[in-house]
Amino acid sequence: MNTRKSITPSPSAGALDPEVVSRCCDLIREADGILIGAGAGLSADAGLDYKDTARFARRFPAMVKRGFRMQAELIGYTGWSPEIQWGYLATHVNEMRFKAPPHPVYGRLLDLVRNKDYFVMTSNVDEMFVKNGFDAKRVFTPQGSYALMQCLKPCRNKTWPTKPIIDRILPKIDPKTQEVTDPEVILAALLRGPVFMNVRGGDWFLEDPYEEQAERFSDWVNHKRGRLLALEIGAGFNTPGVIRWPMERVVHFHPEAHLVRVNLQWPQVPREIADKSVSLQCSAMKAVTALWTAMGWAGRVRGCERSEFHTPRFYLLL
Ligand SMILES: [Zn+2]
Repeated sequence: MNTRKSITPSPSAGALDPEVVSRCCDLIREADGILIGAGAGLSADAGLDYKDTARFARRFPAMVKRGFRMQAELIGYTGWSPEIQWGYLATHVNEMRFKAPPHPVYGRLLDLVRNKDYFVMTSNVDEMFVKNGFDAKRVFTPQGSYALMQCLKPCRNKTWPTKPIIDRILPKIDPKTQEVTDPEVILAALLRGPVFMNVRGGDWFLEDPYEEQAERFSDWVNHKRGRLLALEIGAGFNTPGVIRWPMERVVHFHPEAHLVRVNLQWPQVPREIADKSVSLQCSAMKAVTALWTAMGWAGRVRGCERSEFHTPRFYLLL
């Protein structure tokens, strides 16, 4: 384990070490390219927390009665009827992918890289990066997307949009039992066969929709010269082979790369890259906001990307 000073010892204790924050800011300023690697911890801070038991109890009381406590427990779960399964999934996907509003943790992260040559790799399937203004051509989502569906066999290499399907299911959910009340809707919506969102849940996962992203990503990362900053946020050990280990690999092999690892639970870095790494043991929101503030973004008027900050009507009043 790395015990260097760069690891802030207590995750809950007040402010981050200003020296460490300032070192991270220097790495951002000096970088010729920034690779963001983001895991569930980033979206959790944007309100999309799969382990939030309080929110789950509020949103899915009928599922609590069935013995579940959090959304994380239902990933890969199979022991339910289609009525219960799609009563839950339609609601869950609608909230995670379609209803979730932009969030400052993503907006501030974009500020940190908006004047840089950046690329994003994320295990999150909620498309929050693009929703918050990141360039879709610079985002790679190897775990898929909730916005698409596919057949579970799969009998053909085809995906289709999720939204029209769940829009048909949502009005047919009994608010009390949270089950779909009309089995015909399920049959029609799900094309008479087992389907799921186009996410990496097994070897049935169709990767074709992400092939172009993957090519752009590998092109970018393999040809990026100069100083590269790998900024990893909230990527733990659920699926370390997707974000965490590839980030370490990039930092290990790239001659001028540094790693900034933001992780509340697992801030450690392997000793082979310890001298190229800085760790912030805290939440995504705390780290991103600390960097964003230290780099002077807090008081700055932003560009036109985010309309909620840019309402011309008010300028006339001034
Ligand atoms: Zn099929």
